[in-house]
Amino acid sequence: MGTRWLLVAVLAIPSLAGAQDRAANGARGRAPTPPEITEEGTFYTVVSGDTLSEIAERLQISVDDLVLLNDGLNPDRLSVGQRLRVGSGRRRVEHRVVPGDTLARLAMRYRVTIPELRRWNPRMRGDAIREGRDLIVFTPLPASLSRSVGNANTGHLEHARQLPLHHPALFVRAPAHAYGTDETVSWLVDAIATVHREMPGTPRLEVHDLSREEGGPLMGHHSHTSGRDADVAYYRPNCNEPCTFRTIGPSDIDAPRQWALFRQWLEADRVEAIFVDYRLQRALYEQAVSEGVDRHLLNRWFQYPREEGNRYGIIRHHPRHANHFHVRFRCHDSDEECR
Ligand SMILES: [Zn+2]
Repeated sequence: MGTRWLLVAVLAIPSLAGAQDRAANGARGRAPTPPEITEEGTFYTVVSGDTLSEIAERLQISVDDLVLLNDGLNPDRLSVGQRLRVGSGRRRVEHRVVPGDTLARLAMRYRVTIPELRRWNPRMRGDAIREGRDLIVFTPLPASLSRSVGNANTGHLEHARQLPLHHPALFVRAPAHAYGTDETVSWLVDAIATVHREMPGTPRLEVHDLSREEGGPLMGHHSHTSGRDADVAYYRPNCNEPCTFRTIGPSDIDAPRQWALFRQWLEADRVEAIFVDYRLQRALYEQAVSEGVDRHLLNRWFQYPREEGNRYGIIRHHPRHANHFHVRFRCHDSDEECR
């Protein structure tokens, strides 16, 4: 007898809950409307009887994220007709802080503002961000299909993209070795195309090896396995179109164009390293100084004027880079296995 009663009680719970729900909906007299999707994001309009936790559950988003997405939202005081942002129209990223990260750099990298970063990460104090901590960012930058897996020396590449083979600003020497992540290809092409467009008379620039379509070991290289590395010729004054790989000295580099190329990647915080023969760095450094780049940035971006053996600086010496430079782009935030 006891067992049977228990069974009835258990069975009764769901239907009772359902009945209460129906009664509540009846009392409200108005069913929730579906969220409205716009370019600025996805929005939901509050109806009578809504609570934030119900909305969150219904739309499968966390209450915490709802609070982060809606500046000034008080979770206990929703009003009927209030418009809530329930999807950002942006991508949610958890950025793990690494040495060298600052709010300004993260804002630049994710195309957001510093006040936004502060709002999304309310526990952050001042400008200090602690290494190893995960920061929440809603970035307007798209995710990509390509995946860079592992590190540059032992990794591989999935869903690679190939450099455009007929582009007015660049010359691709080996199409079979011209694969990278979506970001590598677009960052490389966009920057070279910008120099070409903004500085009339710019010759095409030879791009040699990136990675193979599947990544992995590439003959003649230690890295280039994961779609984030590229070997590219230097701009020289009067090079016969296109500018190809050729060993050059300090007076042979076209510093204004070369710096115009590097500056785009450095300012957008897209590169981990640019290997440039030590003897060629001074001309680029002086170009940067003449354009008014501030001392902190010079210090972080250039190995020069430190000595050749000092490994500091994004633009730094590596043997055998007198006839081309090597650029390694950062892991994209959607590449979780990229090292
Ligand atoms: Zn290389």
